[in-house]
Formats: sequence, C-alpha cells, structure tokens
Amino acid sequence: MHYTETKEKSAELLRAVLALMNQHNAAFNPLTYAVCYEYVAGLNGRLNQAFEHLSRSEPRLSDDSMARLYREHIAGIDDKTMERISGDMQRVMTGMSESAARTGSDAGDFTQHLDGLSQALQSSDTERLGQQLGQALRSTVAMRTSAAALQAQVAASRREIEQLRADLQRAREDVFVDSLTKVLNRKGLDHKLAQLLRTPSASGTQHALVMLDIDHFKGINDNHGHLMGDRVLSALGELLKLSVGEAGSTVARYGGEEFAILLPNATPALAREVAERVRLRTKALKIRHKQSNEVVLTLTLSAGVAAHQRGEDASAWIARADKALYQSKESGRDRVSLA
Ligand code: GH3
Ligand code: MG
Ligand code: MG
Repeated sequence: MHYTETKEKSAELLRAVLALMNQHNAAFNPLTYAVCYEYVAGLNGRLNQAFEHLSRSEPRLSDDSMARLYREHIAGIDDKTMERISGDMQRVMTGMSESAARTGSDAGDFTQHLDGLSQALQSSDTERLGQQLGQALRSTVAMRTSAAALQAQVAASRREIEQLRADLQRAREDVFVDSLTKVLNRKGLDHKLAQLLRTPSASGTQHALVMLDIDHFKGINDNHGHLMGDRVLSALGELLKLSVGEAGSTVARYGGEEFAILLPNATPALAREVAERVRLRTKALKIRHKQSNEVVLTLTLSAGVAAHQRGEDASAWIARADKALYQSKESGRDRVSLA
C-alpha cells in the first residue's frame, strides 16, 4: 500500500481524519489516528469494509474497536508506509508553519507601509484621514500579533505531531512484541522474515534460522504450576536476548514454548554455534525459588537449524528448521540438528 497524496491533498485528509476521530468515542491516540487516516485515505479496502461493518452496530467506535481494527488491518503495514504517513503529516505541518510565518512578515511590511503613509497624510493636516489610518494601523498590529500566535500554535502542533509519530512508532513496535518474554512475537518474526526475504541478498550470502523448543515443558507446568512455567518462559527470553549478539539477529517467541533465532548473513556453522551456545546456557540455567533462593528446576531445549535456500518462502524455511528440531526431539532431546 502506498501513500502518494500531495501536500494539499494530505492537508485535506488531515482535517477529515480529525473530524472522523471526533465522531467516535475512542481516545485521540495514535491507534485511532492511524485507523481513521487509513479509512479516510480509502486505500485499505478491507479496513474500510470492516470499519463500516462495525460502525453499523456501534456508531461511535470505542477504544477496543479501534484497537481491533488496527490489529487486524493495519498493524502489519511496512516501515516504508509508516514513514510515509508520518512524513505526510510532517509536511502538512511544516507547510502550515511556513505560511503562517509568511502571514506574519507580510503583516509586518504592511504596518511599516501604513505607518509612513499615516505620517505623510497627517503632516498635510488631513486629520480625519489620519485617524482612520491610525485605526487601520492598530488593526494591522493586532493582525501581526495574531499571526505570531498562529505561528506559535502551529509550532506547538508540530511538536505534538512529532510526539504522535513517536507514539505511533512505539505502538507499532508493541504489536510485534510478546508481552511475557519481551522478545518478538510470531507476527514480529513474520515481519522480519518478510523483510529479509524481500531484500535481494548478494550472491554467496546465506541466512540461517534456528527453531528451539523447551523439552518436556508440559512436565514443568504439571509439577510446578503454570505460573512457574511462565517464569521459565520469560527467563528463557532473557537468556536468548543475552546470548544472541550476532549483528542483525532476531529472537522471537514462535508460540507456546517454541522460540526462533533469525540470523541474517550467517553460515549454517555459525548458526549451529549460536544454537549450541544457547542450548548449553539453558542447561546451566537454574530457576530458583523467589524467597528461599533454592534451585527448583533446571531445563533443556532442543534445536533445529536450517540455512535459507534460494527461492524458498518463509513458511517452507520454518518448516525445514522445525523438521530438524523434531529430529533433535526424536534422537533424545537436549541437542541441535542441522536440516
Ligand atoms: P517436548 O519435549 O516434546 O517438546 O514436550 P513438551 O511437554 O515441551 O511439549 P508439549 O507440546 O506436549 O507441551 C507444551 C506445553 O506448553 C503445553 C502448554 O500448556 C504449555 N504452554 C504453552 N504456552 C504456555 C504459556 O504461555 N505458559 C505456560 N506456563 N505454559 C504454556
Ligand atoms: Mg516442548
Ligand atoms: Mg512445542
């Protein structure tokens, strides 16, 4: 999806977006803004259908409904599009600020002009005309003051827009993060994979993917409770983040107790090394009782490594890494296999 509106068109859009936001109950936050912007721009057919469908049963959409529309129809849009939305807003605001500045200096010139004229007319004793011009002069001064106020207001709005843009970026990032483990979620991984596979790589460059799955995790839940299971997951998320330092690498929770490491520009040998490092550190990890500090459990994981093959799509690549992971499971767990 592309945003190609001109400055004038996007200024019009901005006004329409604000008007639309006003018609709904949802707060004026970046999510609402993004949903309304896309709706008004009319470039996202599925969003528009869903928006209208929802509006029929809920004429004033709530925060939850806006968030749902955002999640289901916008969250996945790429960084380029995101930049363009922010860029458009920025340009509109810059344009307004510039024209307000022009208004201010025009009014300034006008004042000077009238000032001279008024003096000239007064000296030839045309008193009445002088008074009138005096009035005109005062109103011009007022105009200059209000233009300056407008300029200040626009500058303030621009700061708000910048804040909005940062918030929008943050909101977008949150959509891709798993709240329990603080690594990327599956959607985040899909996004990274799509980005990586979209970019043509130099010949001879290889990418590698590691899939990891905790061994007998069900037993951990059964023996220690679901909360302890959650603690194990977040500890593993932390361990992965600390253990995988390779440039451009991504750690994600693929689902349940399965994690993934995406290693751009990495040979299978390097990926195997990373997986081994993670396996050994996980084996050495000691989950302790919060109060007594006693070790309550240890764990192991199994991993599968697959180097990307030319022309392969993301799901085929994941499937091969998964297959290698299940070889590790079948041959006794706590090991790394290569696809
Ligand atoms: P294997 O070694 O073959 O991988 O065995 P396993 O027990 O790890 O695998 P299985 O697929 O049988 O069980 C996975 C368990 O993970 C079942 C599910 O309840 C649990 N699980 C999935 N997501 C979460 C979660 O967010 N928190 C907790 N505590 N448990 C979860
Ligand atoms: Mg498991
Ligand atoms: Mg599993």
